[in-house]
Amino acid sequence: MSDFAAHAERIRAVPDWPEPGVTFRDITPLLADAAGLAATIDALTEVASGWGPIDTVVGIEARGFVLAPPVALRLGAGFVPVRKAGKLPAPTESRTYDLEYGSATVEVHRDAIAPGDRVLIMDDVLATGGTIAAARDLVTSLGGVVVGELVLLELPALGGRERLASDTPLAALVTYG
Ligand code: IMP
Repeated sequence: MSDFAAHAERIRAVPDWPEPGVTFRDITPLLADAAGLAATIDALTEVASGWGPIDTVVGIEARGFVLAPPVALRLGAGFVPVRKAGKLPAPTESRTYDLEYGSATVEVHRDAIAPGDRVLIMDDVLATGGTIAAARDLVTSLGGVVVGELVLLELPALGGRERLASDTPLAALVTYG
């Protein structure tokens, strides 16, 4: 984790994107740097390692797809995508929720998680918490046990942590605002 802190400054703030008044936190410069990428995956894995056995890491489209598989590999877990509506080919469970800007529907394959599976949910950013709340709902509706929720970056001013409040651990490597 201490090594990650030295690289976090590569996350850049892009003002007025995707619309005026929104400051978008862009993690791509951090991931583009070899040492930054390694430190990020190391730090995420270190946090998740403290949450007991994990069968499945769920990554949320799109940037959760970048972070979840390398962490799953390190943990000896599988990877399951939660995707935007209409992308998954087999029967799905779906949830619609409000976003910081707009609304969205996410889906997961019904057979991707078995009852009792211990599931880690990962995304890049926690903002209002709507996306992770929807992913959590999908996992639990299939009988999965959410063991933790892990993001690279948290925007506490948007209230996601309060919205997601539960006994399940929620961790971010860095917070802004
Ligand atoms: P939430 O549902 O409001 O918590 O928003 C989280 C989702 O929106 C995540 O999937 C993020 O990828 C995306 N998001 C929201 N704000 C930002 C940001 O500043 N940078 C990158 N992604 C963001």
